[in-house]
Amino acid sequence: MKRRDVLKGMTGGLGALAACAPFCSGKILAGEEKRPAGRKPGFIDIHVHTCKPRHPKVTRANGTRYPTPQELIEMMDAAGIDMAVVQTTVSPECRYTAVTSEETIEICANYPKRLIPFCNLDPRFVSNSPQAKFRPLLEAYKELGCKGVGEYVPNLYFDDPLNMNFFRQVEDAGLPLTFHIALRIGGCYGCVDDVGLPRLEIVLKTFPKLVFLAHSQPFWAEISTDVVQDGKRVGYPKGKVTPGRVVELMRKYPNLHGDLSAGSGFNAISRDPEFGYRFMEEFQDRLYWGTDIANVPQKLPIVDYFHKLEAEKLISRAAYDKITWQNANRLLKLNIGP
Ligand SMILES: [Zn+2]
Repeated sequence: MKRRDVLKGMTGGLGALAACAPFCSGKILAGEEKRPAGRKPGFIDIHVHTCKPRHPKVTRANGTRYPTPQELIEMMDAAGIDMAVVQTTVSPECRYTAVTSEETIEICANYPKRLIPFCNLDPRFVSNSPQAKFRPLLEAYKELGCKGVGEYVPNLYFDDPLNMNFFRQVEDAGLPLTFHIALRIGGCYGCVDDVGLPRLEIVLKTFPKLVFLAHSQPFWAEISTDVVQDGKRVGYPKGKVTPGRVVELMRKYPNLHGDLSAGSGFNAISRDPEFGYRFMEEFQDRLYWGTDIANVPQKLPIVDYFHKLEAEKLISRAAYDKITWQNANRLLKLNIGP
């Protein structure tokens, strides 16, 4: 079945969004029903950012900013992206504006066939203690249609008791979680881990039922063993891959899934193309296509890369379909297709 038909036939999957009526205008925007015309079936993007329009001075220090919902939809149309997961960012580290779960839910409710909300909380919310109770909040966001948690970026050690308390409750709630890793405390955002990702391993072992959507440079650099060069951890190591900790951890922990968005994910699968094809075949059930749209405009090299993979049959049809949309459909229970 063609994806376009599949999407047309989509029914109940996002029905829970109706529950957010109190938060939403209830108005479906004009462009919402429109599928990108004249294109072959598109992608489900596991990772994008958007927020409602801000004052023109509310930008990052360099003047860049998130796309508005309308701009995001236009970028998705141009790139052949049928649906996208909207990440929520509430932790303060490196933000120029907070995007609350309520804002994400409201935006997604205006584009129910295009946008899928992820909620988020900071582990310092509620009581700033490892006893904080997040379950009622997570349940509320689930009822409001959120399909996962992320982008999780608090600049604490990955296995900090505050994170462990939060992860346990996300595991109980049955939601996947998208994380960003940081190299250190201070001057950056994300959960801090050391070379070789030992803290991530503790977390993966402790919460086997929690699906982690792994993202960011310090994660994907570990696809190869050359992560430290001249005594420094490298964000985007180039060239031949000697399989490293990412491969090892993905083989060992079925709850470790890969978010291929941003320069980091794209670099990991494309720096050594032959390795990349094998990697995508081996982990075809746990990889998710994505862009990390967070700017207007933004180059999306992964779009052309996947068109090339498909046209030149560089990976199997099964792996291509799973990575570009079927895995997201299954994990997020979107109920698209047969
Ligand atoms: Zn992101």
